[in-house]
Amino acid sequence: MLDSVAKAFFHLIAQSRILKTLASRYGMRKPTSFARRFIAGETITEAIEAARAVEARGMTITLDLLGESVTNLDEADAATRAYQTVIEAIIASGIGRNLSLKLTQLGLDVDKASAIDNLRKILERADPAGFFVRIDMESSAYTDVTLEIVETLWHHGYRQIGVVLQSALYRTEERDLARVNALGARIRLVKGAYKEPRHVAHPRKADADAAYTRVMKTLITEGHYPAIATHDPRMIELAREWARERGVPPDRFEFQMLYGVRRDLQAMLVKAGYRVRVYIPFGREWFPYFMRRLGERPANVMFVIRGILGESG
Ligand SMILES: Cc1cc2nc3c(=O)[nH]c(=O)nc-3n(C[C@H](O)[C@H](O)[C@H](O)COP(=O)(O)OP(=O)(O)OC[C@H]3O[C@@H](n4cnc5c(N)ncnc54)[C@H](O)[C@@H]3O)c2cc1C
Repeated sequence: MLDSVAKAFFHLIAQSRILKTLASRYGMRKPTSFARRFIAGETITEAIEAARAVEARGMTITLDLLGESVTNLDEADAATRAYQTVIEAIIASGIGRNLSLKLTQLGLDVDKASAIDNLRKILERADPAGFFVRIDMESSAYTDVTLEIVETLWHHGYRQIGVVLQSALYRTEERDLARVNALGARIRLVKGAYKEPRHVAHPRKADADAAYTRVMKTLITEGHYPAIATHDPRMIELAREWARERGVPPDRFEFQMLYGVRRDLQAMLVKAGYRVRVYIPFGREWFPYFMRRLGERPANVMFVIRGILGESG
């Protein structure tokens, strides 16, 4: 209950211009600024530096150039070009070739065909260079169209792409899990970061967690190199147990966590011999991503308030 109230509250204040201005002014200003706990920086250079540090700790990475919900095709083109530049920088740097991106960043809200075109432009460079590109999942309004686009590109021969399914949505268990598994694409399983209506998603967190466990089990035994993306120690323990019991070796799946969240768990898993990928977001458009992280854990708010008071004083 508290969780859905927190999500709704942060969804609401994420629209606040004053807050956005304040956060943007202070959030990234110094190396110690509060937003840097979750965001690697505003530039690709900072992201690559963060990625190198993560890789040095025995983990792999995926880079997300932050941005979403663009409202015109110029912005979508700019995001596409920015991703192309990021690809070149990643190649030059020698870090892992793995990207995560959002279709509304490529213009999905403006024109579906243009968004597909933009994604194709990114894949045309990324695919031959051996990149894996994960299409993040946004709110349930985009689930259908996101899966359709992934399927279309898959059938056009782009096999180094994957999707995300959210255990909170009823449709994940009802149909999407089987649909994507049948396609053969890799799935990243998450609980779901968006505020959803009750007819679409489990309103109780306990039910979304139970669904997570069920889907995770199917993915570990029947998925295609699934990503178990969670910071929930209970889910992680269940996944390890299930894989052990079913004789699925640790190189057949990976755990994924967000940059700056539960670094202790990340290290513990690496030490225990599991694969861990860290999702590293960076870029100037960090505010909505940042607000979702606060909504997941209201305790983070005190940390931000202390940061703002400390920096503005
Ligand atoms: C790699 C990765 C990619 C993701 N991609 C997507 C996506 O494409 N679409 C989507 O809807 N969602 C995505 N998410 C977010 C996801 O849906 C959840 O909102 C988020 O992971 C929190 O859920 P949880 O599984 O960690 O469990 P929870 O039950 O929310 O949290 C379990 C524990 O993890 C820790 N924790 C969780 N979140 C935080 C935080 N923000 N700050 C500090 N501690 C925290 C706390 O200790 C908490 O008790 C992604 C998550 C990960 C890890």
